[in-house]
Amino acid sequence: MLAEIKGLNEECGVFGVWGHPDSAQLTYYGLHSLQHRGQEGTGIVVSDGNKLRVVKGEGLVSEIFTSNVMEELKGTSAIGHVRYATAGGGGYENVQPLLFHSQTGSLALAHNGNLVNANFLKHQLEAQGSIFQTSSDTEVLAHLIRRSGYPQLKDQVKNALSMLKGAYAYLILTEKELMVALDPHGLRPLSLGCIGNAYVVASETCAFDVVGAEYIRDIRPGELLIINEDGITSEQFAFNSQKSICAMEYVYFSRPDSNIQGINVHTARKNMGKRLAVEAPIEADVVTGVPDSSISAAIGYAEAAGIPYEMGLVKNKYVGRTFIQPTQSLREQGVKMKLSAVRGVVEGKRVVMVDDSIVRGTTSRRIVSLLKEAGATEVHVVISSPPIKNPCFYGIDTSTKEELIASDKSVEEIRQLIGADSLTFISTEGMLGAIVKTEGTNGFCLGCFNGDYPTEIYPDTLQYYYQK
Ligand code: SF4
Repeated sequence: MLAEIKGLNEECGVFGVWGHPDSAQLTYYGLHSLQHRGQEGTGIVVSDGNKLRVVKGEGLVSEIFTSNVMEELKGTSAIGHVRYATAGGGGYENVQPLLFHSQTGSLALAHNGNLVNANFLKHQLEAQGSIFQTSSDTEVLAHLIRRSGYPQLKDQVKNALSMLKGAYAYLILTEKELMVALDPHGLRPLSLGCIGNAYVVASETCAFDVVGAEYIRDIRPGELLIINEDGITSEQFAFNSQKSICAMEYVYFSRPDSNIQGINVHTARKNMGKRLAVEAPIEADVVTGVPDSSISAAIGYAEAAGIPYEMGLVKNKYVGRTFIQPTQSLREQGVKMKLSAVRGVVEGKRVVMVDDSIVRGTTSRRIVSLLKEAGATEVHVVISSPPIKNPCFYGIDTSTKEELIASDKSVEEIRQLIGADSLTFISTEGMLGAIVKTEGTNGFCLGCFNGDYPTEIYPDTLQYYYQK
């Protein structure tokens, strides 16, 4: 899927290292492997044990961290971030990690996710005298930490975290410590690994493979890890935590070579395709997937249906970010620049086109049209997620409710609008059964599909996503 032009965008990625002489370099490579989670800005904060140093900027990891810049980043611990602007919008000041100085020391924050009570807390903090440097929700945590009144940083952090609502995977770096926190619902993935005696933390395990780290375990919902020269300790800052990991991490956001909660993302997607072949049996000549994130599901569908998988769509990998434009008309043009149908594969054929989601419907319509212009006699669209009817409040840019085509249209109405010969969405049970082999929907956030969100949503957040 072409996230940038489709309206379903990744959130952010974080990577951290403790106790390694090449911490900045490892963070660079880790962030590079998480680049799919955010391309708008990136930063690294490194600690040499006495002071924190930050380098950040708007752009890709390879653009910001040139070899000259990397030469200057020396230290044994580091945290880094790749950003897709969600809450608070873009701009240099919102690029993370955010670095704060006080008389008792410095503190850097890197955050993946979105707080749903950030505005509520900001109003309270401003009334008490806080002045915010950024429009990002991440900064709220720094103010809460400094105002908590507890003598020890660990307790300050635990107290501050207990006031947050929403999705957060936080890395917090001081001169002497690395802290790692995951929200009480574990909405975003976050894993712990090691390289010898050094610890690494990453949004996705694909980053571990790149830096040669060994996976230890996933961070638990409501857990605060503290890593310092005394070793690693784990504490719960929230009890009765109910895991609700984002189902879309498996469907679309994460890389196929990552494992989340021990489950390989490619395998889960392939299983979704297999399940779709049962839920939507179609007489067709070829199966094709929308590159890149739908290839795994398309392979699964083809395998289960006994129909050949073919590369019916090719992605132009060299379209730069400058082509990504926000208006609807340019989005449609963007599809043409980024995707081409392979005439030799689809001409005169009945095609099953597998995609991972439909957000606005614009991209699906263009892709169906591309395939038909290239000679496909029928185009049957199968989608490896249920219809997205509601916005996401947890850091995924799914657009406002009004822009979501499935919010007020039936499957048949969507089929007609995108010009497909048939359209099938996977069932919720089918999607979850493809990820885990257990019954029920426990353990996942399904908010954008069924409107059942794991946290309370604050009125001003609701207003933002239901605007227009
Ligand atoms: S609302 Fe949807 S996209 Fe957002 S966290 Fe939940 S499952 Fe993921």
